Amino acid sequence: MNQKFDAIVVGAGPAGCACGLTLAKAGLETLIVERGKFAGAKNMWGGAFYGPSLYELFPDFWEKAPVERYILRHKYSLLTQDASFSVDFTSKKYGKPPYNGFSVLRSKFDRWFAAKAEQAGAVVATGLEAEDLLREGNAVAGIKAGGDKLPANVVIACDGVNSILAEKAGLIGKISPRDIKLGVKEVIQLPRQLIEQRFNLHGEEGIAWEFIGSFSRGIPGGAFIYTNKESLSIGIVVQLSALTEKEISANDLLEDFKRHPEVENLLADGQLVEYSAHLVPVGGKAKMPTLYTDGMIVAGDAAGLTLTTGLVLEGANFAIASGKAAAETVIRAKKTRDFSKQSLARYPELLEQNFVLKDLETFKKAPLLLENPRFYHQYPELACELAEKIFTNDGKKRKKFWKMFRESQRGRISLWQMLRDLFRIKRAI
Ligand SMILES: Cc1cc2nc3c(=O)[nH]c(=O)nc-3n(C[C@H](O)[C@H](O)[C@H](O)COP(=O)(O)OP(=O)(O)OC[C@H]3O[C@@H](n4cnc5c(N)ncnc54)[C@H](O)[C@@H]3O)c2cc1C
Repeated sequence: MNQKFDAIVVGAGPAGCACGLTLAKAGLETLIVERGKFAGAKNMWGGAFYGPSLYELFPDFWEKAPVERYILRHKYSLLTQDASFSVDFTSKKYGKPPYNGFSVLRSKFDRWFAAKAEQAGAVVATGLEAEDLLREGNAVAGIKAGGDKLPANVVIACDGVNSILAEKAGLIGKISPRDIKLGVKEVIQLPRQLIEQRFNLHGEEGIAWEFIGSFSRGIPGGAFIYTNKESLSIGIVVQLSALTEKEISANDLLEDFKRHPEVENLLADGQLVEYSAHLVPVGGKAKMPTLYTDGMIVAGDAAGLTLTTGLVLEGANFAIASGKAAAETVIRAKKTRDFSKQSLARYPELLEQNFVLKDLETFKKAPLLLENPRFYHQYPELACELAEKIFTNDGKKRKKFWKMFRESQRGRISLWQMLRDLFRIKRAI
């Protein structure tokens, strides 16, 4: 391959596929380079994607894309060792096209997405790793991959968290383990009927269920269960630096979580069919790298574009929207034959116009808030103990709820501390 491409997209995750597809549709000579044997071969997430970013690329995607179930229910649970306190939300609105979200298995989904980019005219080279950047003067002018030099007017780094290319371009330094979470996940196969019985679902309905509590042993993070057609995606996502400091294995936390009485029954008779681990950048806007330079743009996880608020962990929709914005920038740059950083400065402008940078700005204080250890320990204990007191009938004289609350709260966390936490929550989310 010694042809000069208009654009080389590195990585065929959601960001790379959205970018490559948009470029190819506009008629640009586009190469997508993916190190996996096929797109999605090694990719993992929770996961469900939300919002209209995919809908904008494929208006009827839910009929064609290999999605699992539409997310009808959202459930949040606070866990102690042996109790759980939950909030469960469902809306009929989420059960109608274009739907609010879908559970997805990446190995099927990314492959489908990359095939769409290929059909649009992009060349998709799998099993090929981008090792370095080519340069002309200060400008990026292509990549080195598989021992070859592959020239291009512009490179779009969609190579995920810890982007080697963004680092080589000097756009990002080493990311602190405080700003990264480690996810470990299992896919547990279960008959469709059992899933629907256990989670109270019908037909294609699905649930996204998030947990925080004692299983993470005070480490900032949580756990999740997503229902697929005939399997469950179950995992934990926890702060990397705290894992290292406390010398705890993420897998042990996942096992603790799976043994919780609320969870154990849901998994009974299931068969483990997949195990994976992956990092996710959670530093938010403050830790975002420089997004472009001469001849290069960074999108998706490579640019740290994920949103974590404690209630949601979203990255795929940010990846798709940023990949598309990167492509639109390059399409315009091609018209003026100007791939300098002045021309590519259009990229952050587009991210400001769509939801990407606005959402990151709105929730810029959330990453710090989520480091508060009380959310993972004291508050779940307080909620479960209080609920237990309220619902226990031991034949003795009943107390007012406020008195019960004060008994549970004293010695665990001060009212003043609670008020301060509440204020921090208000400011962050
Ligand atoms: C445990 C966990 C749960 C999550 N849950 C959710 C969720 O429920 N919803 C949600 O929206 N988001 C979720 N996310 C975040 C989401 O997965 C990411 O934000 C999203 O995948 C980012 O897409 P991307 O295309 O930027 O990067 P990736 O999906 O990481 O894709 C990068 C691609 O680049 C390839 N690549 C890397 N380096 C090279 C190289 N040098 N040469 C060639 N190819 C390369 C990789 O193989 C990969 O295919 C979760 C993440 C984790 C870890």
